[in-house]
Amino acid sequence: MSKHSNPNSESSSLKAQLEESRHLREQLEKTYRTDINNLTQFIARLGNTLRGIDGDLDHKLSKMSSAMTRVDKIDAVIPVMDDVSLVLQQHGSRVQRELQTTQSRMLAAARRLQKLSNLPKPIREEIRDLITQVEGPAFSVLHYLPYLTQLVELYQKSMDIRVSNGNSQGMLEQLKQDGDNKYAELREELVNLISLIDLNGTAATGLQNIRQQLISGLSEDQFVLSCVQVVRLIVQGINEERQNAQVFLESLNEVLGNVSNSVARSIKATDKAEQAHKTLDKKLDEGIKALSESAANACNLSELTQQVGVHVETLVTTLGQKQALQSRSHQLLKSELEAAQSKIMELEDEAEGYKQKLSEQKFKSLQDSLTKLPNRAAFEERLELEFKRWQRYGTPLAIAVADIDHFKRINDSYGHIAGDKTLQVIANMLKKSLRGTDFVARFGGEEFVIIFPQTELTGLLEPLEKARKRIQSIPFKFKNNDISITISVGAAEFKDQDTMSTVFERADKALYEAKQQGRNRVVIDSR
Ligand code: GH3
Ligand code: MG
Ligand code: MG
Repeated sequence: MSKHSNPNSESSSLKAQLEESRHLREQLEKTYRTDINNLTQFIARLGNTLRGIDGDLDHKLSKMSSAMTRVDKIDAVIPVMDDVSLVLQQHGSRVQRELQTTQSRMLAAARRLQKLSNLPKPIREEIRDLITQVEGPAFSVLHYLPYLTQLVELYQKSMDIRVSNGNSQGMLEQLKQDGDNKYAELREELVNLISLIDLNGTAATGLQNIRQQLISGLSEDQFVLSCVQVVRLIVQGINEERQNAQVFLESLNEVLGNVSNSVARSIKATDKAEQAHKTLDKKLDEGIKALSESAANACNLSELTQQVGVHVETLVTTLGQKQALQSRSHQLLKSELEAAQSKIMELEDEAEGYKQKLSEQKFKSLQDSLTKLPNRAAFEERLELEFKRWQRYGTPLAIAVADIDHFKRINDSYGHIAGDKTLQVIANMLKKSLRGTDFVARFGGEEFVIIFPQTELTGLLEPLEKARKRIQSIPFKFKNNDISITISVGAAEFKDQDTMSTVFERADKALYEAKQQGRNRVVIDSR
């Protein structure tokens, strides 16, 4: 019996095996479906990530992922996968070509941007760095994406800068902009020049009106007309001055002529008087002599006669002395008068010379002959004008006083000629470092003053520091020694109840502080 198994137990074992294999199959199918699911999801994600790079690839990938959801066997997906592989292969070589095109186009665009004029230094540097990055090797187009964004941003920034500079419309606009700047400079220069002209009368009033118009802004056409008008007024002013001088000189001439005539007449009269005096004296002398003789001839009064004779003789001697004295003093007076007359004639010649120089001297008297900067008188005149404007309109106004440090040493070590040359160079650099509207003058000695119209306290430090640094870096060479010369500066702004002298005092005090703090610095009064 043991040979034969129990059919019941056999069937239950088969059943169990069947059950187990069914269970295993279910497990396998489950795993298979999970894998397919994962794969489908992966392909869908891949499709999403790559979407946009290649339309054909997009299409093939989406077809593949939907095929995967529908099929039970992976075999059915294989033809779709082959399709995708083919597209990927083609895409690979296209990517290589596009990589090169993208690189060369980006480089060309960046280099073109680099060539634009008037771009600030930081932007230029950024473009240069970008070019270096893009020139390097790349293995995918994605590598260029951040640089592409950066390049677009750089273009945007450059455009913004050029638009704000008025450069957006190319060369013509650029030329127009240059022209506008030049025009503004010319306008400032004309304003400054007018301030230097010292005329009286109607011409002066006309010039002041034009100056006001220039300050408040004029069109270019009006500006050209103003220039012509200024020249016209200067000519008119000079003519007025000449006429005034002419009138003055003519009347002076007349006076001198009268004086000269009267002197000549009085000399003549004195001569005549002297002659008459002599005749009279001679007659007196003869009379006295006759008296003396007749007295001497008298017999009775001998003693008296003798005495009279003595007296008369004394009288004659005295008279003779008096006459000699008179003659000498007359001679003296005459020579004195003659000298005076020749002096007057010299004066007449001089007056003739002044007549020619008068007008030009009016201009020259406002300029310092050594540095060719406006002098102290010009500074005072200009400050008065700006001060009135500050009072009237309240536009900001500031002044600065600059003094060369240890200048005496230059004179002492290298002589006055070197000192003078140094003054000229420093004056020149000071003027060059500041704006056209800033009025720079030589106050005296080695001191300079600057008027900053329309400038607030906060706008003072930068230009003054720039001037200070530029002066410090002038390479002076005396007797083969390299010398660096520095300046100290004090500055102050007009405020509240200020007068010209209170602000000047504050600027001067600030200069003193700059010297105290060790020189070669700018101190701004912050009252
Ligand atoms: P500090 O730094 O304190 O200003 O010293 P400093 O030597 O510059 O000042 P100080 O006032 O003692 O001397 C100024 C010198 O400037 C004295 C004078 O000889 C010289 N100086 C003034 N005007 C002229 C000029 O027109 N030509 C020359 N060569 N020297 C001048
Ligand atoms: Mg000084
Ligand atoms: Mg000095």
